[in-house]
Amino acid sequence: MKLMFYGAAREVTGSCHGVEVNGKKILVDCGLQQGADNGLGQSFAFHAGEIDRVVVTHAHIDHTGRLPLLVKQGFKGSIYATEPTCTLLELMLRDSAHIQELEVGWRNKRYRRAGDDIAQPLYTIADAECVFPLLVRCRYNEVIDTGDGVKIRFSDAGHLLGSSYVEMWLTEGDEKKKLVFSGDIGSPDHPMICDPGYIKEADIVVMESTYGDRSRPEAFDTVTELAKVIDTTLSRGGNVVCPSFAVGRTQELLYHIREIKERGLVRKCPDFPVYLDSPLAGATTKIYSGELPGYLNEEAVSLIRDGIQPLSFNGLSIVDTAEESKLLNDDRTPKVIISSSGMCDAGRIRHHLKHNLWRQECAVVFTGFMAIGTLGRIIVDGNVKSVTLFGEDIAIKCQIHNFRSMSSHADREGLLKWIGAFEPKPESVFVVHGERDICKMFTARLIGEGFNAIAPKFSAIHDLLTGEAVFEGRDIMRRDDQEYQLRRESAVYQRLMLAGTRLLEVITRNRGGANKDLEKFADQIDALSGKWER
Ligand SMILES: [Zn+2]
Repeated sequence: MKLMFYGAAREVTGSCHGVEVNGKKILVDCGLQQGADNGLGQSFAFHAGEIDRVVVTHAHIDHTGRLPLLVKQGFKGSIYATEPTCTLLELMLRDSAHIQELEVGWRNKRYRRAGDDIAQPLYTIADAECVFPLLVRCRYNEVIDTGDGVKIRFSDAGHLLGSSYVEMWLTEGDEKKKLVFSGDIGSPDHPMICDPGYIKEADIVVMESTYGDRSRPEAFDTVTELAKVIDTTLSRGGNVVCPSFAVGRTQELLYHIREIKERGLVRKCPDFPVYLDSPLAGATTKIYSGELPGYLNEEAVSLIRDGIQPLSFNGLSIVDTAEESKLLNDDRTPKVIISSSGMCDAGRIRHHLKHNLWRQECAVVFTGFMAIGTLGRIIVDGNVKSVTLFGEDIAIKCQIHNFRSMSSHADREGLLKWIGAFEPKPESVFVVHGERDICKMFTARLIGEGFNAIAPKFSAIHDLLTGEAVFEGRDIMRRDDQEYQLRRESAVYQRLMLAGTRLLEVITRNRGGANKDLEKFADQIDALSGKWER
């Protein structure tokens, strides 16, 4: 019975954990690496064909974006997720594949001109569509027997529509263990979705730590503050540009803007136009506005009961085509533009930043977490006077606002409250999904509170029965680390490191095998090492 850390180990994106029981392997999440390149790219530290099933905590791409790659590389099992997660995944994975196809297309134009080999997308829309037949739609709070000694239950994490904690019961012979995977833990008082719940029992917990170093600003009234920014910016003739995650954050923004309009909080221009410039966000908004019994909070349910569409208001236009999107830049009417990607790494938002960042009268409002290395993080950090967009130097002269209160992640106090609800304390708490220093800091805090907390390194393997590390894993280096700058390694060398990690895993799986076989295996490794010794 083992637990493996294949992603988001001392990092924020690329969530991917493995569980091994009765000789079967289960993945919990299979996320895309975003932001700064950690040198590993999107490679897996295992063979996709070895995985028997996948459990998905929620639809965000940093938890699901490599599912098409997994299927493309040979995964054939079932993928368990809540009903809204499955519905959102069909949109999001198609969109992710579309972005990858587009980006490779642009890159290949350059490669061809330079006479270089052309690149292939990580996966295509056709690959993404192969994921959908494997999805098993589950409801909250139902225990599901997935076979091979594994039972699971999803419960509301209050982070995104359909987001969940996963409880996992493992039985191997006489041994039993209960694991809990937090996925992303939500924060209270978010529009449309319920507040995060709590779980009381677990032997082992794997929890996120995104905001493990900070508290949410108190007494910040998002609706009033957003109304103020819109009012002042539109009055001076500027646009308000909101880079926003198409799924979740965008719907939250629309919910707030509907309230702003309803209460008449933008006095000088009460009928201001709002453009939702993201086909994915438009399609997602339709899902949020549909029949979702059991997944919306009471306030949203009562609005709908009163005949009010929570995400709809006068002046809202959904921009479909790229041509319509470009036209927005020529139109000088002050407006609100909501566009993605949320971290400004790709998508139409980059065009809007190009046309608005340099204009003093405009404002850019950030509403979520920006991973290191993303354009969003660079702008929010405020250490640069300009950024490069589409090969052009663009000055940053507009107002920059960071609405941290809108984050859908629990802050430090929320995380402590969540882990504090377990009674008694779990045997071990593995802290993941946090920037390296934050992850370490939060782990130290948990140790101070009496938990056996560990911040596992990438590809670490823990034996759940002995409680010991079978393999400590290794620190991955980011391209922006000084250390990494000094000894930058080639992609091929990284591949070799992954092969080494896999070899160690194969060794641990052979534990208890016949002595004759183990000896033969050891001889082969010795011979291989001897051959390559430098
Ligand atoms: Zn998330």
